[in-house]
Formats: sequence, C-alpha cells, structure tokens
Amino acid sequence: MNNEQLLQLTEKYGSPLYVYDTDKIISQYHRMANAFSSVNKLKINYAVKANSNINILKVLNQLKSGVDCVSIQEVKLAIEAGFNVKDIFFTPSGISFEEMEEATKLGVQITLDSLSVLEKFGDKYSNIPVCLRINPHVMAGGNHKISVGHIDSKFGISIHQIDGIKSIIEKSGLVINGIHMHTGSDIYNIEAFLTATEILLNTVKEFDTIEFVDFGSGFKVPYKDGDIETNIEEMGITLSNRFNEFCKEYGRELTMIFEPGKFLVSSAGSLLVKVNVVKPTPNIVFIGVDSGLNHLLRPMMYDSYHHITNISNANDVEKIYDVVGYICENDTFGSNRSISKIRENDILCIHNAGAYSFSMASNYNSRYRPAEVMIYNGEDYLIRKRENFEDLLRNQVIIDL
Ligand SMILES: *Cc1c(COP(=O)(O)O)cnc(C)c1O
Repeated sequence: MNNEQLLQLTEKYGSPLYVYDTDKIISQYHRMANAFSSVNKLKINYAVKANSNINILKVLNQLKSGVDCVSIQEVKLAIEAGFNVKDIFFTPSGISFEEMEEATKLGVQITLDSLSVLEKFGDKYSNIPVCLRINPHVMAGGNHKISVGHIDSKFGISIHQIDGIKSIIEKSGLVINGIHMHTGSDIYNIEAFLTATEILLNTVKEFDTIEFVDFGSGFKVPYKDGDIETNIEEMGITLSNRFNEFCKEYGRELTMIFEPGKFLVSSAGSLLVKVNVVKPTPNIVFIGVDSGLNHLLRPMMYDSYHHITNISNANDVEKIYDVVGYICENDTFGSNRSISKIRENDILCIHNAGAYSFSMASNYNSRYRPAEVMIYNGEDYLIRKRENFEDLLRNQVIIDL
C-alpha cells in the first residue's frame, strides 16, 4: 500500500484506523512454507491471538493454514471462520478443566501443559491422544514478558518431569501424539533455537507414539530498515535437515509444526492516526495523536519499537519528535523520532500493527476501539466497525438509584 492509498482509506473510513494488507500475509505464509519445503509433512498453524479478526482467519484458511488457539473463544472463532476441527490446535496454559473438556468435545487437537491436568485428562479421556507442551529451560526472546521457555517460566511441563509423565500415561493408557514447545517471542539467535530443538527431539524419543513435533514460534520480524530479524531461510535449511535426519532415526515420518503469529501478520498491518496537536516544549516537540495505549499497547507494555511515518507530508525536512497518545498515562508511541515535518491534521502511519495490536485494544478512558479495514485482491473491505457510544453502555446494568 502506498501513502496515497492509505490516506484515501482514512478519508473513507475515518481515523484512527487499522489497515491490513492480505498480500503481505500471503507472501509471509509462502515464505515460511518455502523455507521448510524439504520437510514432507509441514504444518503452519497461525497463532490466532496475534490478530483474531474472522476475515484474517478466513484468508489463512484459504491458504490451508491451521490455527493455534489459546482459549475456547479462539477455537470458536476459528470454527466460525470455517476451519476444520482437525486443523485447530488448542495450546492453552492454566485454564480450567471444564474449558479443556469443552474443546475436547469439539474434537480439536489438545495440548496439555501440566502434570495435574494430564492426570485429570487421563482419568476421563484416555482414548483421546494428546500433545504435551514441554519447557526446555532455555532462555530466548527479546523481553522478559515474552520469554516463556526459561527455567522459571510458568509454561509447559519441565523436561525434568518426564518420569512423572510416564507414570501417569502408563496408569491411564493415554497416548501422547505430539510434543510441543514455544520458547518465546523475538528469537533471532538460531543457535539458541537449535539447542532447544535438541531438547525437544530428545523428549520425542522418550515416547514411541509421536506423530508431530510442534516447534512453536517466536520468529522475529524487522521493525525498521536494517533491523535484525529471524533468518527464516537459513533456519529452514538447518532445521529441516536436522528434522528429516531425526525422523529416520525415530523410524517414522513426523509432521513438523510451527505456530507463527507475528511473522505472518505483523508487517501486514498499519495503524493510521491523525495529529491533534503539535506541542513544542523547551526540549521536545510533542505530537499528540487521536489514539493511545488503548489502541496499541505494545510500545508501553514491551518497549516495542514501531516505525512511524508521516503519510500526509512524506518528503519534507525531517524533524525530531515524540509521538504520544491522548490517554492520561505516559503513552508514548515513539520518542526522539526523525519524521518528515508534521503539521496538525496530518495522518501518521504506525507500522507493524498487524499483530498484538487490535487484539490487545481496550476501551480505556472510555474511548472507542478503531475500525479495521482489510485489503484483499486490491479491494478495501471494512472488517470491523468503529465502536460507538452504545458499545460503551452494552453490558452495563443501569440500576434505578
Ligand atoms: C503467542 C504464541 C505463539 C505465537 O507467537 P509469535 O511470536 O506471535 O509468533 C505461538 N504459540 C503459542 C503457544 C503462543 O502462546
């Protein structure tokens, strides 16, 4: 999408506005499939939590992607979007057993992540094969809030508890059909990933009923020119070779699974915002926009970098700005940024807003969540309406005082 097209969308649909370019999602999907093309049985399961709009899910379903869901609601959204239950993988953590049972009854692939739930599951559903999420105890990921595979992380069953797993499955007769790990986000160190892979494969060897190995995700995407990213092509070659060799050793052709969220949808999305005020102060020129942490939380929660450009005035002299939101907290989208001269009412584009952006949006400060637009085959479609005052009142029970 060029600036002109994006500007037209804000004229048509207003601001702030989320825009998703499906061509980019499709090309990222193919890029990943190609990187691992030497593996015969490859499955890419899109992580729904990154962006759960039904229409985005439908595009992924057309690509023959599977989905990775972390709540029963995500499972239901995937079914609504047309996914076959055999392509839905349920990988929650710490949920109630009732929720696990509801998903089981729908027929999706279940992943268990504690000995306690494994025991309960074995007592009731010993005829349903399950996958186990293990914790390989390696450090990976860019920010401690999203690094989930280290020793003190709450996720997965420790690799030191294999004996515990075995005694439970021997008692119940439960069959383990997959082994899963997800070490966290922002993996760019292939070595660290390969270390975790060896631990994962060693765990597979402990069971003779495995059909798939799920490597999770955490592929890092670039947030600006020259930024580091996971070299998926290089990783594809190394990991595919290792996997194919392992399958021979194991004596069965296993399915290799990945669960990318960010890699598929991050760069496809933009958040377009309007400049309300240009506010020079002695040291900083603040740019106040019609959005905030209620629409895009990542910079404040994870210190994430989101590139910001001025699409109304792209080729003027660059000046240094702090771009801030309208929420009554310090919601800075970017500080000390060099951006083409900004005037009031200009439209700014906040890049890489396809993943963990709308899906983390809220009504904080009683603001409406933005509209979402999808570009598909060159056409723009409104895929979520902007909220209105009635949405704020919905579910509030007004009592007669
Ligand atoms: C969040 C999550 C993913 C996706 O991670 P990305 O960094 O967006 O690729 C995959 N698997 C599980 C289990 C997750 O919780």
